[in-house]
Amino acid sequence: MSLAGEAVDYWLTNAGLERRADMWGHQSTYQLYNALVNETAKGFGAVGMRYMTMADPRVDDICEPFHGREYSIGQFKPVVPRHVNCRCWFEGIWARPQAGLV
Ligand SMILES: [Zn+2]
Repeated sequence: MSLAGEAVDYWLTNAGLERRADMWGHQSTYQLYNALVNETAKGFGAVGMRYMTMADPRVDDICEPFHGREYSIGQFKPVVPRHVNCRCWFEGIWARPQAGLV
């Protein structure tokens, strides 16, 4: 049996189906959470959204460059989760410091 054949067969096993269901659940939960945060932040007057990663050694090269980037409300921004097992989220930016104020 070829390696490619074994890889395809894995996803049809109970373990493979369970893993896919788990990944789908994770992805769906993060999508829903982030959609709710986005809409809630807008509704409560956020001036922007900040891309956040877990900032730990498991953050990958796809997400790491976006950590801390800020987006205005309505500005195009990445959709999170960006990939399977992505743990990123957006947090609201509630106010920007006024120039000249401490
Ligand atoms: Zn991520």
